Amino acid sequence: MSKKKTAVVTGAAGFLGSHLTDYLLAKGYKVIGLDNLLTGNVRNIEHLAGNADFDFIKHDVTHFIYLPGPVDLVFHFASPASPIDYLQLPIQTLKVGSLGTHNTLGLAKEKKATFLIASTSETYGDPLVHPQTESYWGNVNPVGPRGVYDEAKRFAEAMTMGYHRAHGLDTKIVRIFNTYGPRMRLEDGRVVPAFIGQALQGQPLTVFGDGGQTRSFCYVSDLIEGIYRLSQSNYHEPVNIGNPGEMTVLQFAQKILNYTGSKSQIVFKPLPEDDPKVRQPDITLAKRILEWEPKVTFEEGISSTVAYFKEFLALNA
Ligand code: UDP
Repeated sequence: MSKKKTAVVTGAAGFLGSHLTDYLLAKGYKVIGLDNLLTGNVRNIEHLAGNADFDFIKHDVTHFIYLPGPVDLVFHFASPASPIDYLQLPIQTLKVGSLGTHNTLGLAKEKKATFLIASTSETYGDPLVHPQTESYWGNVNPVGPRGVYDEAKRFAEAMTMGYHRAHGLDTKIVRIFNTYGPRMRLEDGRVVPAFIGQALQGQPLTVFGDGGQTRSFCYVSDLIEGIYRLSQSNYHEPVNIGNPGEMTVLQFAQKILNYTGSKSQIVFKPLPEDDPKVRQPDITLAKRILEWEPKVTFEEGISSTVAYFKEFLALNA
């Protein structure tokens, strides 16, 4: 019987990190999850308690990481990731994207492991090219409130390519577009949990600006499948993973009201500074090199996400 491979997932108690951990365990990996629980929550991994293939270490990856034993894959997913989180945690966001990326790259180099960094569509900033292709260099305000996240991730990409070129490390970069699903934090400020939470609790849906800005929402299982395929590929340049189904924020609010049957009103609030006006991934590259494209329909994805938040609200009532 072949020995199980070991993957390290930073941010394992977060939304994406916990789904990635589940996916890897189901594929037969051993997983070591690291998280400092700043925005992650052990609730997301409590179902793994007692799983002999899973170890959790509470650790801040901006500090040196020491792990005994072999490691085959390192996934660096630790970071505050919602605009409200990184506005409230600017230094931590900058540190985990820079120092945390350096430490996790160092770990991968030491273990001769494959390294995959969770980058973001925010590297394109408020994009002047639409939809966004990987060859677009972006339109980021480095000193605006979102700069702490955008520039940390841009630095992380540069650092990753540095290790690839200088040390021959096997690295991958995924640019993640808006993703949703169970285990998002109700209060993380992102539009999916915000609108679903508001609709379910009979509160007004807070549309920022005139709601004409667009986003494209990918269901979490599709995203994780694309990321795993990327980790197994020989491709080292950035790859967009997301769902190209674009809609305005106002259309999204209306869909949530229709889906939940909520009688909530829509109220308009000021648009946050530097809020991108459009966002839609061009996934031509992912389709070609990974033979991947999203499969879960918006209705299916929203239905399981609403079910999750209903249960969460009932448990926390
Ligand atoms: N948004 C909104 N109301 C909210 C939260 C967000 O209208 O309560 C808007 C936000 O201004 C942005 C879009 O929804 O245009 C997506 O925001 P989110 O925070 O989910 O992530 P982003 O895509 O901006 O990183």
